[in-house]
Amino acid sequence: MAIHEKTLIEPERILQHDKLVVDGVDVSGHWNTMITPRTVVDYDDDFEATIQKYTGGENVHRCWQCGSCTNSCTMYAQNTDFNPRYWIYVTRLGLKDEIIRDKEIIWQCVSCNKCTNICPKDVRPEGVMKALAHWLEEEGITDKTPSTIFDEEFTEQIYARGRIEDGDVMKNFFKKTGQPLMQPWLVEMIKRMVRYMPVAHLMRMGTNTVFKPRTKSWGRTGEVLQEYVREQKEAAHG
Ligand code: SF4
Ligand code: SF4
Repeated sequence: MAIHEKTLIEPERILQHDKLVVDGVDVSGHWNTMITPRTVVDYDDDFEATIQKYTGGENVHRCWQCGSCTNSCTMYAQNTDFNPRYWIYVTRLGLKDEIIRDKEIIWQCVSCNKCTNICPKDVRPEGVMKALAHWLEEEGITDKTPSTIFDEEFTEQIYARGRIEDGDVMKNFFKKTGQPLMQPWLVEMIKRMVRYMPVAHLMRMGTNTVFKPRTKSWGRTGEVLQEYVREQKEAAHG
């Protein structure tokens, strides 16, 4: 019988005769395919609990492996190596090395949430993908993703001023990710803003970018907020 998700099995564990006749019956090809047994010893008992502590990973234990998430996944349609059902399965088994092996594709989730909408057990697979990507980053296994860098810039501005300035977020994000500030689409957007936006609004945007105003009476609020977030993180991850 055909092996579904064959790409997940190490090639050396798949045994198959291209040409085999048994008792006069031709059983060549996938009709005589075997998989050698595997004894798992390299698991981490606490891994599921670790991922549950990340935002989005809380319900990973609910999965019953129906495969609906993978079937509906936008990225799986592009690349069958991108498989949320499989990563949820190995997370539950504590097979960290298998997550690490796929570190180059786990982050590719586009957050379309099709998986989350279809999941019959409210596992929220999209959240699990994000939790795994964050775990990989925090363990230093992968570099920070552009979305993490964007989130950090956004949060830093809130801590400092109680508000964000779109222009500043964009400028600092490009700087931190090594991208040129003047991108063709941005030039086009600025041209249209100049053409269609009220002058007073444009001037306010420019002034806010230069002088970086704070929310009224922000005072020590940013520090308190920062402290609170730090405590919450420590409570979750130790
Ligand atoms: S759809 Fe939900 S229950 Fe089904 S495999 Fe995916 S995460 Fe598990
Ligand atoms: S949110 Fe991510 S994992 Fe879920 S369907 Fe979309 S691309 Fe796939």
